[in-house]
Amino acid sequence: MIGRDRMRKPIQTPPSDALIRSTMGDPKRLDALRRTALLDTQPEECFDRLTRLAAKLTEVPASFVTLVDHNRDFYKSTYGFGEPMASVRELKERSFCQYSITQERPLVLNDATQEPGFCDVPTVHSMGVRAYVGIPLVTQDGQIIGSFCAVDFKPKQWTQRDIDILSDLARSTMREIDLRRLIQESVSTNARLVEEMKKVNELNYQLEVLTTTDALTGVKNRRAFEDGLAQELALVERRSTPLSLLVVDVDHFKTVNDTHGHAAGDAVLQTIAALLTKGARSIDTVARIGGEEFAVILPSTDGASARVVAQRMREAVEQEPWPTAPVTISIGVATLLGLEKASSLFMRADNAMYQAKKTGRNRVVQA
Ligand code: GH3
Ligand code: MG
Ligand code: MG
Repeated sequence: MIGRDRMRKPIQTPPSDALIRSTMGDPKRLDALRRTALLDTQPEECFDRLTRLAAKLTEVPASFVTLVDHNRDFYKSTYGFGEPMASVRELKERSFCQYSITQERPLVLNDATQEPGFCDVPTVHSMGVRAYVGIPLVTQDGQIIGSFCAVDFKPKQWTQRDIDILSDLARSTMREIDLRRLIQESVSTNARLVEEMKKVNELNYQLEVLTTTDALTGVKNRRAFEDGLAQELALVERRSTPLSLLVVDVDHFKTVNDTHGHAAGDAVLQTIAALLTKGARSIDTVARIGGEEFAVILPSTDGASARVVAQRMREAVEQEPWPTAPVTISIGVATLLGLEKASSLFMRADNAMYQAKKTGRNRVVQA
């Protein structure tokens, strides 16, 4: 920031061309300028308000905000130059603004035509600029990116009050520039955050799928089955709808493995999982709960309907054109009783399945 005591000493001698060139081309300064993201943007009311105020408070006809690029001046806001100036938003020749960015002190000219070194600046002739004040726009890290200027087309004795007002408005301009950058940064940070959250959600979903799915068959695993059964039981309490459970075990599966190999056994398990899934509704849960054991949760299904479903599944397996040897399954069916617990329901279905084994396999037994 510019100290007021320093403002009282306007510069007298113009900076050299070499100093102007090196200042304009200074990479750190240009980097600070780029970060404002203001070059070649349209006029904005927040800056126009400040140039308007500057002209009115210091009683001059014109004021403007310049950002000095490596090779040109860009006018972010102009007041009092009329339409032609507003549309000529870039000045390529030497300007007072380029002089004023070479140091943090204001450049104060009461009559440019009378100042050696300043009188031949093109705008003195082309636009009739006589009196000029340029307050450097200084970023928080000390880079001068442009200037806040006031202009008269006749000589003017600038007062300290004028310089103070313009310095305050220059500070307000920097605040607007910083605020704009902060807002833009927070918008892009938010967008990045939303993207990251999407990725995290997707990963969580994949993880959830991974932890609830049986790798071999693609149906739910034992853990997901237990969770699913507990959830269904909780729902039954609220809805008072029936709930049935099938426990399925492959008959003589050991023989399949022993005769055709473990890989063929795996393929059989995959086909059985697919057949059970095909025979189930989308609200049912098909799970592999052990080596060659499956379970099917049938919400809103009474005993009679569950038996029909189980028979259909058993027949589907029996009728499947197995490439190895015929494969069959035994199924135990249990339907939830009153306030029964999940473990009891499961035990009854499991016992029914063992009854099916005992009584000849490839059959459905209802608990
Ligand atoms: P039962 O009709 O009485 O059920 O006879 P079973 O041979 O099916 O029953 P048992 O429990 O004696 O054998 C089950 C076999 O399942 C033994 C085991 O090697 C096999 N098994 C368990 N998990 C897998 C698996 O992931 N892949 C393969 N290929 N076999 C498995
Ligand atoms: Mg078994
Ligand atoms: Mg078995």
